[in-house]
Amino acid sequence: MKNIVRISCILTLLLLVAFNKAGMKEYKVKCVVIDPGHGGKDPGTLGKFSKEKNITLKIALKLGKIIEKNFKDVKVIYTRTTDKFVPLRARANIANKNNADLFISIHCNAFLDTRIQGTETYIMGLHTSVSNLEVAKRENAVILMEDDYEENYQGFVPNSSESHILFSLYQNAYNENSLKLAQSIEYQFQNRLGRKSHGVKQAGFLVLWQTSSPSVLVEVGFLSHRQEEKYLSDSLGQTYIASGIFRAFRDYKNDIEAK
Ligand SMILES: [Zn+2]
Repeated sequence: MKNIVRISCILTLLLLVAFNKAGMKEYKVKCVVIDPGHGGKDPGTLGKFSKEKNITLKIALKLGKIIEKNFKDVKVIYTRTTDKFVPLRARANIANKNNADLFISIHCNAFLDTRIQGTETYIMGLHTSVSNLEVAKRENAVILMEDDYEENYQGFVPNSSESHILFSLYQNAYNENSLKLAQSIEYQFQNRLGRKSHGVKQAGFLVLWQTSSPSVLVEVGFLSHRQEEKYLSDSLGQTYIASGIFRAFRDYKNDIEAK
């Protein structure tokens, strides 16, 4: 009888160890998709002398290089590496097909009031102000350049506020981690780069909606602001921004993997 008890104890212990091991399967951030906004026939926002599509591409490539240099185990995939037009749904598909652990979309902002400057990072969600909605409308309007956009985006109308409200109500399962990364990015911009940060915001961005991973859309600054346009167009400014996003990525990765 004693032996039977002893054997069952050992068996239970072995089972517990096995279950624990399975449950403790480590989560690692192995693949990041970097998405330079716009491209090709879609220049994005226009500054006095610069185009959004060129700035986003340069920052994206710099960011990817820094990640590859520092994390040999992280695969970096770009939605474009040249000046070409990529539909929004194709960008999200690239992330989904590659089982991306993270999706970072890079954009430049613009506003009628040319005194406005600073950064803001968006996650998917219902906008809380008209200005957030306007940013999403401007970025989503890109689909008007795509063929068959009505079918591909389930009747979404880029310039309709109602369309944005309805579609923002889709809750993204990855919002908690998206928020974590977004906060980390804005923290870097404000505290390490001394940029003016408008903080983390939410709005209905089509490119974020379709990705099945934590996703953020970073507005790195305003091309409508004279000084900021110079900073964003300058190679050193672009390096600073890429480094800021990299540090946020590194902190996010360390934090997630420690759990
Ligand atoms: Zn944009």
